[in-house]
Amino acid sequence: MNTILYIVIPCYNEEQVLPITAKMFLEELMLLIEKGKIAKESKILFVNDGSKDCTWEIIKQLSKENKKFRGISQSRNRGHQNAVLAGMMEAKEEAADIVISIDCDGQDDITAMEQMVDGYHKGFEVVYGVRSNRDSDTFFKRFTAQAFYKLLDKMGVEIVYNHADYRLISARVLKEFANFKEVNLFLRGMIPLVGFKSTCVYYERHERIAGKSHYPMVKMLALALEGITSLSIRPLRLIMGLGTIGAIISFIGVVWALLKGLSGHTIAGWTSMVCIVCFIGSIQLICIGIIGEYIGKIYMEVKQRPRYIISERTCEKEGA
Ligand code: UDP
Ligand code: MG
Repeated sequence: MNTILYIVIPCYNEEQVLPITAKMFLEELMLLIEKGKIAKESKILFVNDGSKDCTWEIIKQLSKENKKFRGISQSRNRGHQNAVLAGMMEAKEEAADIVISIDCDGQDDITAMEQMVDGYHKGFEVVYGVRSNRDSDTFFKRFTAQAFYKLLDKMGVEIVYNHADYRLISARVLKEFANFKEVNLFLRGMIPLVGFKSTCVYYERHERIAGKSHYPMVKMLALALEGITSLSIRPLRLIMGLGTIGAIISFIGVVWALLKGLSGHTIAGWTSMVCIVCFIGSIQLICIGIIGEYIGKIYMEVKQRPRYIISERTCEKEGA
């Protein structure tokens, strides 16, 4: 089979886990080559996302030991999404036929790659890795994760339930995806927008093999907000709806107050007045905040700054 696979793996401060999982990725790649499902030119591409520990040194050492390993390094830490994008675009330029993106901590079942590649050979251009259960998560993580997907769905962002960034995409999808120039990245919401035939592969997600998560609660919330405001304007519509309902209630209130005033039955209502002022004031502030979030997004988009800057490569780009 002549399908060239690139496994794109973002790494940020992963010196503890990388030496363990790099071997696992290589084993899976070799297995797929032996089974004839992918070409022997296939590669494992690490993207160092400005790590502050020895991650990049480890990647360089790995690529010295085995030609199947490649590495690119971002000039500074830009976050997981940008790191994955940098890897995908590098794979595209190196003429990969399919790209699988996966985290480097061994949480996602590496052996599910075979099913993903099979999916591609059956004619699917996108294969989403979907967690079959969340038994390994704490109740809190499970609850917040579910709320995350539900909220995104309600806000008009089309994403695959329980899918993170473990997925296979074909060169065709990659080529079209390269035309999505936005700087506010939320890959799992953007890939479905590209379209093409897609399917899901289910796998069990494990605990991290070593090291600790870079996505605590606050970052998860930031990602949800980023996802919603990057891909949907439904919150702005909700503000319109809220404003309309508020206006109707106010109108009724005004008529009532006028009638009361004219009939001479006005009351001293200081408390009710303060409550109304505070309530309306806070709603207005929230609405301005949401609008501000969109203006901020436009501000970032119009600057058109590069989404990633590659400062080093373990070897020259093919054809360079
Ligand atoms: N990561 C990255 N840049 C960052 C943070 C994380 O490239 O700024 C990588 C990290 O090395 C890992 C993946 O993104 O391969 C997912 O991160 P993590 O495992 O910490 O997130 P979680 O699985 O806990 O959501
Ligand atoms: Mg992880």
